[in-house]
Amino acid sequence: TKKVLVIGGVAGGATFASQLRMLDDQAEIIVFEKDGTMSFANCGLPYYLGGFVKEKEHLIAATPESFQKDKNIEVRIRHEVISINRDKKTVTVKDHILNDTYDEHYDKLVYSPGAVPIVPDIKHLDRGNCYSLRSFKDMLKLDEHITQKNYQSVCLVGGGFIGLEMAENFKARGIKVHLVQRSQHVLNLLEPEFSNILEDELLENDVDLHLSSTVKQINEDHSLKLSDGSVIEADFLLLAVGIKPNTHLAEHAGLSIGTTGGVKVNEYMQTDDEHIYAIGDVIESVDFITGKPKQVPLAWVAHREAYIAARHIIDNPIPFKGILGTAICKVFEQTAAVVGHNAFSLEKMNLSFETVELNARQHAGYYPGAAKLSLIVHFSSENGKIFGAQAVGPGADKRIDVISTAITGGLTVDDLQTLEIAYAPPYSSPKDPVNMIGYKAMKKLKKK
Ligand code: FAD
Repeated sequence: TKKVLVIGGVAGGATFASQLRMLDDQAEIIVFEKDGTMSFANCGLPYYLGGFVKEKEHLIAATPESFQKDKNIEVRIRHEVISINRDKKTVTVKDHILNDTYDEHYDKLVYSPGAVPIVPDIKHLDRGNCYSLRSFKDMLKLDEHITQKNYQSVCLVGGGFIGLEMAENFKARGIKVHLVQRSQHVLNLLEPEFSNILEDELLENDVDLHLSSTVKQINEDHSLKLSDGSVIEADFLLLAVGIKPNTHLAEHAGLSIGTTGGVKVNEYMQTDDEHIYAIGDVIESVDFITGKPKQVPLAWVAHREAYIAARHIIDNPIPFKGILGTAICKVFEQTAAVVGHNAFSLEKMNLSFETVELNARQHAGYYPGAAKLSLIVHFSSENGKIFGAQAVGPGADKRIDVISTAITGGLTVDDLQTLEIAYAPPYSSPKDPVNMIGYKAMKKLKKK
């Protein structure tokens, strides 16, 4: 039997272990997780802090006991892998419970240690109450401190997915929110006019927005000096300026790192050591649309890569097709969703493209609750290949998922008019916004 070791026991690691067990009932599988909690839903952390998820236990999908009993997989929590020894095919493990160190042999090793938060360059950072939100432990600490220290106001540093989600969740908890974003717009993978819709929503919900600004320094009196010269007060800071792949063990082991900073893997998730696979936030993958290196630290990606690695280990491989970067975010009553590239990214690659944009209602105007849905699609005017799409508004999720499916299936932009989309007045219109985009785009196509 094969002995398979896994580093990391959350999205990528625990999913891989389960998938492998489903495909192979013989393999010996041991998962090492340095923290005390495995298989928790990272994506749910903001919603526990906001009180939308009532019990923290609801975020935990499995425990070492349930993995052992239901799947015959051994999970060693509070066990940190401190080195990968490729010549001996072992890992060195630090057992934080017994304060012991030992080596464990592998036939195959799967590396899924996730990412680490980037710490922004703020002068006198140590003066402030600073937090990040990556792990279950981080969430518990933040939750406890908010209550115990009676925090009333926060400065969110970073207006990406986590910053935006936390703005809503802190407000739900009655906390005053300042959001400081370095670029001109929040969620800057959206087109600026789409980000504007989210900014209006934040302002309407009483979030203080500081765009084109950074926190420069924490003053002696704990107030925060921003780069635009203003000074704001906040009881604590949540640092959410981004993450970087947690590659240090791989680097020490001499595995190749790609241009985007993630561990290089092939289409079967193998690193340049055929016995070591890497998956999740730590890797560099390829862009489905352009074939270029791409890094997308999202849960779907980790789950899919876990399956691909498991299939290769049982000698029944299927290749990974690459990533589109389909993502979604709720900002109070607004929803923003994206797939593929935005105009900025296409321009940077010097790809010539056409754009169609539509402002419609998400469903029949006469049915209560009809609200604006904005949709934009970028495509090649030569052959109709879809490069990317964005939607903001109710029903953005459905439209972006349909377009993501279309891209995966190789449909072109004019094919969007042919899609038969489920319709009744509360959901859509006889011509769905996705169909409308297809009709509009057809006029801009050179051929056909
Ligand atoms: P992780 O799930 O982070 O797991 C890595 C694990 O490895 C960690 O538990 C770590 O303790 C452990 N580890 C690291 N080093 C070692 C070592 N040396 N030895 C042993 N163990 C080690 N994605 C979405 O698609 N949608 C969302 O809505 C979404 N929301 C998110 C919200 C938050 C607050 C966060 C933090 C992330 C969110 N994500 C979301 C991203 C998603 O959670 C990640 O892409 C996914 O968890 C990546 O899986 P992973 O296995 O690579 O890393």
